[in-house]
Parts: sequence; C-alpha cells; structure tokens
Amino acid sequence: MSINGTYDPDNIFAKILKGKMPCVKVFEDEYSLAFMDVFPQSRGHVLVIPKKEPARNLLDVSEDTLGHVMNTVQSITRAVNTALNPDGIVVTQFNGAPAGQTVFHLHFHIIPRYENATMKTHASGKMADMDELTALAARINSAL
Ligand code: 5GP
Repeated sequence: MSINGTYDPDNIFAKILKGKMPCVKVFEDEYSLAFMDVFPQSRGHVLVIPKKEPARNLLDVSEDTLGHVMNTVQSITRAVNTALNPDGIVVTQFNGAPAGQTVFHLHFHIIPRYENATMKTHASGKMADMDELTALAARINSAL
C-alpha cells in the first residue's frame, strides 16, 4: 500500500472502532481511542487512533482531529511513564507500506523502552497474553 490511496473501511482498526473486533482499551474520548498493541514491541506498547475520520495516515487527517489525537498521545505517554516507569519511550508513526505501515488507519505507537531489554521487531512476533495486556491497560489508565 502506497502513501497515497483510498481508505479501506474494513481495515482492522476500523473494525475495532465499529466493535466488530475486540481490543484491550486504555482510554477513549470523542476523538481518539487508545488500546494495547497485541503484538507489543515492549511491555506496555499502546496505539492511539483517531475515531472520527477515515484517515489512512498523517497526510490525510484534518488539523483539528490531529490536534485532539496528539493531546491523547501526550496524555498516554505521560501515563505510561507514571505507570510503568520505563527508561525511555519511543513514539512512532508510519506512512505507507515502504515506511513500515501495516494497518492503514492512522495510528501512533507509544513504546516504552527498558534498559537491558531489546525492543522486539515491528508488527511481528507472538500475540501477547490477554490477561497481561488487560492488567497493563488498567495500570496505564489509572495513571491518566
Ligand atoms: P503499523 O505497522 O501499521 O505501524 O502498526 C500496526 C500495529 O498494529 C502493529 O504494531 C501491530 O502489532 C498492531 N496490530 C495488528 N493487528 C492488531 C490487532 O488486531 N489488534 C491490535 N490491538 N493491534 C494490532
């Protein structure tokens, strides 16, 4: 999928927004949804997505929605820091398959980094334990 194109309303994150696919929710407001990545690159990997616009990537989204979503990204990053006390936090976002994007609904990755722990490969590896993700989501939510 190129950086340019049309939005696929059946992508996995659109299904999560419609309630057709489950997710481990961390936070939700009018504009954004934050949930745990099921293939986490580290303990506490959260995704933040816009709810209101069919934006494939950063180029498609309105300034208004982006502003609200970025506020959520900052809030979640702060909550991850408080709840999990990592040594660093990576915030990433990919535009187009050649850049590494695999799900074509705009999203931001919040990936805690821990000294002496290698970050796992992007969008691969084994699915996380759901009970563990649920417990992490509750800890992050309670730090908001
Ligand atoms: P991208 O490669 O598009 O930047 O990131 C997509 C992310 O979505 C990856 O980190 C991948 O692990 C995650 N992901 C893929 N499918 C699902 C899913 O069904 N549920 C959740 N929660 N995350 C997913």
